[in-house]
Amino acid sequence: MAILPGVIKGLGITFKELTKTMVKGAETVQYPHEKEDPAPRARGVIALHEDNCTSCMLCARECPDWCIYIEGHKELAPPRRAGGKPRSVNKLDRFDIDYSLCMYCGICVEVCPFEALFWSPEYEYSEPKIADLLHDKSRLGQWMETVPEFEPYEAGTEVKLKKVPR
Ligand code: SF4
Ligand code: SF4
Repeated sequence: MAILPGVIKGLGITFKELTKTMVKGAETVQYPHEKEDPAPRARGVIALHEDNCTSCMLCARECPDWCIYIEGHKELAPPRRAGGKPRSVNKLDRFDIDYSLCMYCGICVEVCPFEALFWSPEYEYSEPKIADLLHDKSRLGQWMETVPEFEPYEAGTEVKLKKVPR
């Protein structure tokens, strides 16, 4: 019997919220019929600036979920100066992120030393099949279009390095 006051109180709150919803309408956004703009710096998805990626594997090694898959090969590039030796450069063959495993911690974005990974506020990439949440470098590259421009840091945080998307 000791639980009866709690049950009555709970039902009272439910009834009050039900009445409020019926009179004023729901307070939740009726997605996908209505869409809210996410905050500009929201962690929606990770975008890849492929030209900056050197296949160094640092992001894949630091990812706590092991959900970044990288493959590359070496190629000879022209020397930097006339008369120099051809340079050996890494070329990216595969860069996939499995968003069914990713926990959006942002470690990969933070550790990338070559400014190749960026957060985008894009969030509309749900899939009916979980296997389809593995996205390749071309899709990750398309998301670069949705990466917001750099905004100045708040006062007192100027010592942080500027990270620019383009
Ligand atoms: S955000 Fe975190 S979990 Fe997701 S790919 Fe990057 S390091 Fe891995
Ligand atoms: S995204 Fe950055 S950390 Fe990851 S392999 Fe490319 S250059 Fe290295």
